[in-house]
Amino acid sequence: MAGLREQVIRAGFETLYFSGAHKLLRHFVGGVGAILTLHHVRPARDDAFQPNRILEITPEFLEHLIVALQTAGVDLVSLDEAHRRIAEGDFRRRFAAITLDDGYRDNKEFAYPILKANDVPFTIYIPTSFMERDGELWWLVLEAVIAGNQSVSLRMNGEDRTLTCATAEEKQETFGAIYWWLRSLATETEIRGAVRELAADPLMTVGAHTINHVILAKTDADVAIREIEQGRALIEQRLGIRPMHFSFPFGDPASAGPREFAMAKELGFKTAVTTRPGVLFPEHRDHLMALPRISINGDYQRLRYVDVLMSGAATAVWNGFRRINAT
Ligand SMILES: [Zn+2]
Repeated sequence: MAGLREQVIRAGFETLYFSGAHKLLRHFVGGVGAILTLHHVRPARDDAFQPNRILEITPEFLEHLIVALQTAGVDLVSLDEAHRRIAEGDFRRRFAAITLDDGYRDNKEFAYPILKANDVPFTIYIPTSFMERDGELWWLVLEAVIAGNQSVSLRMNGEDRTLTCATAEEKQETFGAIYWWLRSLATETEIRGAVRELAADPLMTVGAHTINHVILAKTDADVAIREIEQGRALIEQRLGIRPMHFSFPFGDPASAGPREFAMAKELGFKTAVTTRPGVLFPEHRDHLMALPRISINGDYQRLRYVDVLMSGAATAVWNGFRRINAT
C-alpha cells in the first residue's frame, strides 16, 4: 500500500510538474502551511537514490530545502508556533514546520548543524524504547514483517540487502540479523546523550512517539493509551521536558484512526501528526490530533518535487481533493 501510494504521488508530481498544472491548482489546494517529515539525514553513498527504499535525504538537500523555502517566503516555525497560527487563524504568511521521526543518530550529526546554522526550529519525535531499551514490542513488529513475507529488502550499513525468509529457519536467521543490526545502530547511552544535548537547544522541540513504536490501531485500547502516555512520561522523566506534540508511529490510516486521535486529545497534546500526505488548511484547527504531513525523503529528493509538494497539488490528487482526511 505504501509502495502504491508513493507511486501515485510520484506520478502525480511528474505529471503536475511537467504540465504546470500545480500552478493552476495552487489557489484551490495550496493550504496555509505544511508539516514536513524527515527521517535520516546523512551523506549520499555511491547509489544513494533508492526509490521506495530507506527514508533518507542528504545534508546538502536539507540545506537546499531550507534555503528554497525561505526564499519562497515560507516561515520555518516550531510546532508550537504552527499550532498557534492554526488555532488563532493567523495565516498572513505561509509556514512550514520541520519534524524528524524516531531520533536517529544522524539527526544530531548531520541535520542539527544545518538547522542550527540556519536558525531553523525543528521537532524530533522520540520513541522512548530507543532511549531506554526497555522496549519489546518493536521486536513483534519486526517479527510480523518477517512472518508475513518470503523476503525482506533493506539497506544495511550502506549496502542493499535482500534477506530471504521463506522457511522457519530462514525467518529465524533473518530476524536475528536485522534485530542485532538495529540494536547496534544506537546504543542506549549514545541515543540518550544525543537527545539530551539537542534538547537543551531552544530550536528543538521534543515530541512523543510512544514507547515501543507500536501500531496503535492494532493494539488494545489500554495498551495503546499506555504507550502514548508512558512514552511522554519517560521523556519528561529523563529530559525534564514534557512533550506537547505527538507523532503516531507509522502514522498511516491503518496505524492511527479516530480512536487514536481521541486518545491523543484526551492526553492533552497540542498537536498529533500522522503520515497521511497533505498540507495544512484553516479547517485543521478542528483536526489538531490528525494533522497530515509532507514526507521529504529520498524519493522526492529534488527541489522541484518540494515545490509541487508545498503547492499541495500532488497530495490533493492523492486525497481525492478532500481538504481534510481525518477519518
Ligand atoms: Zn517513527
